[in-house]
Amino acid sequence: MSEIAALPGDKIASIEEYETGYNTFDDGDMVRASTVGKTELDKEARVANIKHPKMISIPKVGDIIIGTVAAVMSSMIAVSIDYINGKPTTSKVECICSTRNLRKKNVALVNDIVTLKILNHLNGTIHATIEEPHLGVLFTKCRKCGKKVVQMRDAIKCTECSWIDERKLSTNYGNSDFVKLRE
Ligand SMILES: [Zn+2]
Repeated sequence: MSEIAALPGDKIASIEEYETGYNTFDDGDMVRASTVGKTELDKEARVANIKHPKMISIPKVGDIIIGTVAAVMSSMIAVSIDYINGKPTTSKVECICSTRNLRKKNVALVNDIVTLKILNHLNGTIHATIEEPHLGVLFTKCRKCGKKVVQMRDAIKCTECSWIDERKLSTNYGNSDFVKLRE
């Protein structure tokens, strides 16, 4: 399977070799792209597709996402998705994650970086979970002064004002490069 970037109208295959698939049309001679995306030539089915960026940026059930907390409500958080299974996405799809069962005061704060697993799609909303050891906060700051925090078992402590707070931390907390991305 080859993947080449295509623009609308680009020739992507001969109609003698391939049929039109997603986001393509045939001009009587060639299969052409009808949208911007990546060319995908399925040699077995002999179908030429254009994978539109929007198509691949909706996470599937079971996918692991990394995102930025956009809103914190009493029993859930809304997260703007930045990575799906480690691949960056720019479409800013949001998912929501219940925090009801966690018994923590501050599961995550707005602008924290979290990793979640996609549970399901219900009524147009993408639902995710944070309730596994590797899921949770990857990067956070002090709620009082906004400075750097360090992990103390299940809690975090501010290096500046010594405020101790709770988060649902991922077991990968502190192992990521997301600190650099935020500064
Ligand atoms: Zn502080």
